[in-house]
Amino acid sequence: MTSQEIKSTTERYIMSTYGRFPVAIDHGRGATLYDPEGRAYIDFTSGIGVCDLGYGYAPWADAIAAQARKLGHVSNLFYTEPSARLAEILCKRTGASCVFFANGGGEANEGMIKLARKYSFDRYGQGRATIITLKNSFHGRTITTLKATGQDVFHNYFFPFTEGFRYAEANDLASLEAAAGDDVCAVMVELVQGEGGVLPLEKEYVAAVARLCRERDWLLLADEVQTGIGRTGTLFAFQQYGVLPDVVSFAKGIAGGLPMSGILANDKCRDVLGPGTHATTFGANPVCAAAGLVVQETLTDDFLAQVTAKGAYLRQGIEALDLPCFGKTRGLGLMIGIEVREGYNKSDIAAKLIESGLLVLTAGPGMRLLPPLVITKEEMDAGLAIMKAALS
Ligand SMILES: *Cc1c(COP(=O)(O)O)cnc(C)c1O
Repeated sequence: MTSQEIKSTTERYIMSTYGRFPVAIDHGRGATLYDPEGRAYIDFTSGIGVCDLGYGYAPWADAIAAQARKLGHVSNLFYTEPSARLAEILCKRTGASCVFFANGGGEANEGMIKLARKYSFDRYGQGRATIITLKNSFHGRTITTLKATGQDVFHNYFFPFTEGFRYAEANDLASLEAAAGDDVCAVMVELVQGEGGVLPLEKEYVAAVARLCRERDWLLLADEVQTGIGRTGTLFAFQQYGVLPDVVSFAKGIAGGLPMSGILANDKCRDVLGPGTHATTFGANPVCAAAGLVVQETLTDDFLAQVTAKGAYLRQGIEALDLPCFGKTRGLGLMIGIEVREGYNKSDIAAKLIESGLLVLTAGPGMRLLPPLVITKEEMDAGLAIMKAALS
């Protein structure tokens, strides 16, 4: 199919829930994507933080093909090797006690919320189910995770929403104290708010939240759906914050492009969700887990140090361009936000860059870059050159 045919067939037959850019993608190599006509695009998006190993990475594709030929799915009524191995690696690399595997970020967060409420129910009975989340956060698109999301624009149309969420200002302990009460069981945070605009929480604030959680037996829940799996330069962002959350959700980058997610729980939480309390048919799929094992093999400490170095290089490169539309950059590792100056529109900038051959994202009031973690210096330089030519 040509780009035009793909677009018109999509518009005719797929529900129009997405505002798409007018580009069809056919294949990719490294951090470069190609449309069906062969035009190249430098990718600063990784499919929204998913394709950490880039495109066409042979060990990843080979592991998927081999596992698909062996066993594509069998359900959680039986044991399979890939998910067992992946869970062991994740626990050993993080200090977590155990894993529950699911399929998407919103679903993982649902599991994390269920775990927090059941933990509290088991110890204290009913009436202690409220979870405090942060303003400007994003936790997913299910009825419950929309309500967990601390942005009013998401609390529309789909009434009634799940009850039991209160919101506090990020980086403001007094606001958290004000939202506290006898009905609280947990605090849920993104360590770097992603969709909200790439806003890292302050270290002292996170340490204070963790302390408060310990004092009041609230669970500390970290939504690492976007920040996890090497994106910020460590396997999980919490490893840079010096805290060990009770439960951590992950998704986007876990299997390098196949749908997989999950939660990591500490010792205190390992037996909260017993048999019959939580499940998902596709969870721990062997093909996705085999892909996840290749991601784990690739994300060595050395590789993760490179992510930090690449992030610094890209941010310096952007700031050195001194473009009229861009202010300061911020972020952690290869999760980068760029401030858009007044008088400029982030969506217009994104459209212009994409038209010029550089795929970028927006988030909150500015731009967001989530390049594949394997991006090369040459590809970063090519992206910077496109920025300069399109936006000077
Ligand atoms: C993307 C994202 C989600 C939702 O993940 P889905 O896979 O789209 O359900 C939840 N939380 C955060 C922080 C995210 O970035």
